[in-house]
Amino acid sequence: MRCALAIIIASTLLLGAGPSRGESHRRSPSPGAPVRVFYDRPLKAESLAIYRSVKSHRVLEGLREVAAGLRLPRSLTFRFAACRGAADAWYEPETRTVTVCYEYVREVKDRVSPPPVRTGAERQDAVFGLVAQAFLHETGHALFHLLEVPVLGREEDAADQFAALVLLELPPGQARHAVDGIARLFRSLAAEERAEPAVLADDHSLALQRLYGLLCLAYGADRRTFGDLVASGALPRSRARLCRAEYGLAMDALHKLLRPHLRGGRLERERVRRAFRGMF
Ligand SMILES: [Zn+2]
Repeated sequence: MRCALAIIIASTLLLGAGPSRGESHRRSPSPGAPVRVFYDRPLKAESLAIYRSVKSHRVLEGLREVAAGLRLPRSLTFRFAACRGAADAWYEPETRTVTVCYEYVREVKDRVSPPPVRTGAERQDAVFGLVAQAFLHETGHALFHLLEVPVLGREEDAADQFAALVLLELPPGQARHAVDGIARLFRSLAAEERAEPAVLADDHSLALQRLYGLLCLAYGADRRTFGDLVASGALPRSRARLCRAEYGLAMDALHKLLRPHLRGGRLERERVRRAFRGMF
């Protein structure tokens, strides 16, 4: 996803021109800027079913509800877009817009549809899990930018972690289907990835690393729901023993960094569940 460079440039400009970090933290609490949502009308008939599905499941309204848990200094927009064939998702700092293409939804749907995703509900949760992951990953970039959240380490990994931590607040069954769907996407992408300089130099981690990062957070969050990942070998034991601490560190960072901006001072599990109720 083509996001990091544009954010770095915009963040540099913003930090150079705007108020200092200390000044921004001294602002008195405000009700927060609005979060807007748009569903572009698709250009191609093949995206119409996706357009109708995401609209009827109120996907963007759900994301708006999650974002409403934060006091944002400037407005943020969530948009489903027709992208003339590009299966992409990104955050645009200049317009403060998170965009996911209908084409991206179609591609991930194709990748997670084959067996063994068994029931219609599992398939739907897997697809919506992937759509939510794409939006939440880009929302992570948006929050780092809008709230001037410091990122130590690779921003792409931090955005992945933000998305995973929010999705793991869902009820266990839905969280499991969402994680299974995302895992299938990463495995599918890994099968096409080659250990070439351009791939290794990319600002995203390798697909298998992203997969294990996700499974580790899931196992660290809920051993009962995700315990079989270790028993089956999907998550190697050598990594699994670190996952409880890894999840705790990530959650602690999320709460400490976002606390000044979170209504109620914490990420509310009930808000996340309410927001995604129509989706899963
Ligand atoms: Zn990204």
